[in-house]
Amino acid sequence: MDKAEEVKEMRVTPIRNGTVIDHITCNMALKVLSILGITEKGVDSTVSVLLHVPSKKGGWKDVVKIEDRELEAKEVDRIALIAPFATINIIRNYNVAGKHKVELPENVKGIVRCANINCITNLKEPVESRFDVISKDPPKLRCWYCERVIEDVSEHMV
Ligand code: ZN
Repeated sequence: MDKAEEVKEMRVTPIRNGTVIDHITCNMALKVLSILGITEKGVDSTVSVLLHVPSKKGGWKDVVKIEDRELEAKEVDRIALIAPFATINIIRNYNVAGKHKVELPENVKGIVRCANINCITNLKEPVESRFDVISKDPPKLRCWYCERVIEDVSEHMV
């Protein structure tokens, strides 16, 4: 597949520079926006969101397109926790200049809060949270300290 076809397959109007986040787990696009701070004030570029797009791989996906912005590694790590099959396409001058899949790590430190209020990570002098990733689809985490399993990861993201 050449680059022009790749862009077409993403079903978005081509953008000159920016990032297209493709293959987002269906219904997670708005949470991706929230991770990127796009629901807050101070965003000064165009953001397009496609919900429920048929995926060539079968099933449905969401797509987010952000003009004039490339993502930081930390942001990509957070996206992996809620959309573990997402691909990040960096667009420069209308071409796909880089394409990579997000990677769900084996363990997660600091990004997610434990759901157990008595957990050592939620005390007054908190210890940094730490989780093992025990399932990828859907993402599930288990607290390294108290073993509480977090299933709705996006609800517990710090
Ligand atoms: Zn815990």
